[in-house]
Amino acid sequence: MKKFLICIVGAFLAVSTYAQSDDPSVKFAETITQDDMYENLSILASDALEGRETGERGQKMAAAFIASQFQEMGLQGPVANGGNSGFYQGVTLYTVKPGDIYAKSKDQQYANFEGVVYYGKSATDGEKTKDIVFVGAGTEEDFKNVDVKGKAVLAIVANTRAWRGPAELAEKNGAEVLFAVNTASDEEFDGLNNQLKHYLSGGSLSVQKPAQEGGASFDGVFFVKPSLAGDIFKTKIEKLRASIEDGKVSKATKPAKISYNISTKVEEMQTENVLGYLEGSDLKDELVVLTAHYDHVGVDGEEVYNGADDDGSGTSAVIEIAEAFVEAKKAGKGPRRSMLFMLVTGEEKGLLGSEYYAENPVFPLENTIVDLNIDMIGRVDEKHEANPNYVYLVGADRLSSELHEISEKVNETYTQFDLDYTYNDENHPDRIYYRSDHWNFAKNNVPIIFYFNGVHADYHKPTDTIDKINFELLTKRAQLVFHTAWVLSNRDQRPVVDKLQDQKVGSN
Ligand SMILES: [Zn+2]
Repeated sequence: MKKFLICIVGAFLAVSTYAQSDDPSVKFAETITQDDMYENLSILASDALEGRETGERGQKMAAAFIASQFQEMGLQGPVANGGNSGFYQGVTLYTVKPGDIYAKSKDQQYANFEGVVYYGKSATDGEKTKDIVFVGAGTEEDFKNVDVKGKAVLAIVANTRAWRGPAELAEKNGAEVLFAVNTASDEEFDGLNNQLKHYLSGGSLSVQKPAQEGGASFDGVFFVKPSLAGDIFKTKIEKLRASIEDGKVSKATKPAKISYNISTKVEEMQTENVLGYLEGSDLKDELVVLTAHYDHVGVDGEEVYNGADDDGSGTSAVIEIAEAFVEAKKAGKGPRRSMLFMLVTGEEKGLLGSEYYAENPVFPLENTIVDLNIDMIGRVDEKHEANPNYVYLVGADRLSSELHEISEKVNETYTQFDLDYTYNDENHPDRIYYRSDHWNFAKNNVPIIFYFNGVHADYHKPTDTIDKINFELLTKRAQLVFHTAWVLSNRDQRPVVDKLQDQKVGSN
């Protein structure tokens, strides 16, 4: 990190517009340089950091790097009892993985991913044995003709996706579980099996500890290998299929039973948000937050997903903006409000680090006047190839008209970007407002601005590498965020929140 050289600040004069020659913010913005950005990003986006996947070694290395930068520049670690001198907010995440799952006909047991694939979130208290009823293709008509209450049902559906209707009908009619043949042959089933094994055995991460109770009224769906369906009813699958064609489903089978067991296991993972704090002066109880996520999606075999733009660019920007504020404070121009620079974990797994912070805020959210969130600001998207002097802004006007006005004026004064509000349209199908970490502040009625360069061909690919970063743009966009934060941290009043978030509208 380059150190800021002593700068001579002229006598203070009251300013009515922002960018006057004695406006100190300009000098501190200039400490955010392309060289410093490159230095940070060459570490964050290096192969050595292994794609910074949440909970993995590369993420821990990135966290240590960020904390060491914060410490070196002189920020405080604000987390009471937090690791790494209070710079770490420990985040515990939970993942539910399939446990002991199987289905058993009279003669044979089929383990999960070996003849059956369980698709659901239930857990049985031990093995269940049920009468099983063949319901043909599982149409409304099919369910009318049989009593399935408290039983298991078997349906043969048209294709891999056609099981949802029968599953709903099974549940509605009081069945306890659905066995669905959704492939045409055993070979096709094996293909589906391998695909689903890849997706389902990893589980999904959450901040809340999942409940692991049995006793749900409907246990979900088992996809079954066609030959197994025949085995259950001691007949050939071809006979079952033919009975659907002939409209003789009710005569196709004799009474049969099936047993099944579903258990899950919950695993815990430790990860961390990295927080650096700079105390304000006369308005220090109020807080300006800057965020970016430092995690990315890891490795796939030998391939490293470097995540230079996503979100190495935002992480590097927040570090440099922090340093500019520290230098300002050292020069006697520190912010009136306090500043929290927070690099969050778990974004790629579902905005989990910021969700954790919003539920366990280190500083009261009521006193948090704004969150400026950066996710991908180092590239140019296709739309702006001809005129790359742009940045997308999202969310500035959603809670506070005043914040939007401040943001516009700051840009006009200092950076003169073409501010593109395409993604701010409430009806935009990409729903960006709900899709990065700022949302966890916005849903708590903390006004936010999100800075974004749009998507590109390397998004979430191993090719999101440092050589494709436009450092001039990255630096200038970081300066826009810096100036916006500067104005927000120093003005007399916090931005007025004149529109409240209806939480139901946005929750996803
Ligand atoms: Zn991202």
